[in-house]
Amino acid sequence: MKCPRCNSDHIRKNGHRGSKQNYICADCERQFVESYERKGYPPEVKEQCLKMYVNGNGFRAIERLTGVNHNTVIHWVRHTANSLSDAPEVSEIPEIAEIDELETFVGKKKQKMAVDNCKSLETRNSSLGIRRSLI
Ligand SMILES: [Zn+2]
Repeated sequence: MKCPRCNSDHIRKNGHRGSKQNYICADCERQFVESYERKGYPPEVKEQCLKMYVNGNGFRAIERLTGVNHNTVIHWVRHTANSLSDAPEVSEIPEIAEIDELETFVGKKKQKMAVDNCKSLETRNSSLGIRRSLI
């Protein structure tokens, strides 16, 4: 048995939760019960369904093509979208204005600071890209 969080097999018994044996990971201290084992589809199938979704396939079409129940796909899409909730809203980023700002900034400030600013802009834009592809 392995820790569901860090995959360590350094596991100790840690009392019971209800009628089930409870365990604790000696490495990260995550507690879990035996039946926590992951069931369900392999990650490749999930990824394929999500790709089909972002490419415009409906949930029923995905079900017909992959055999994965449409409710499962809906759950994956919601779950994945929620995990991206830190991404800025599309309307909050006027891309052209940011490019102008950046050019102005590069012109006025020292080179090192300009490079830092480029990095943060890149990061923001890449998270925006992920969010867009999910909509
Ligand atoms: Zn662990």
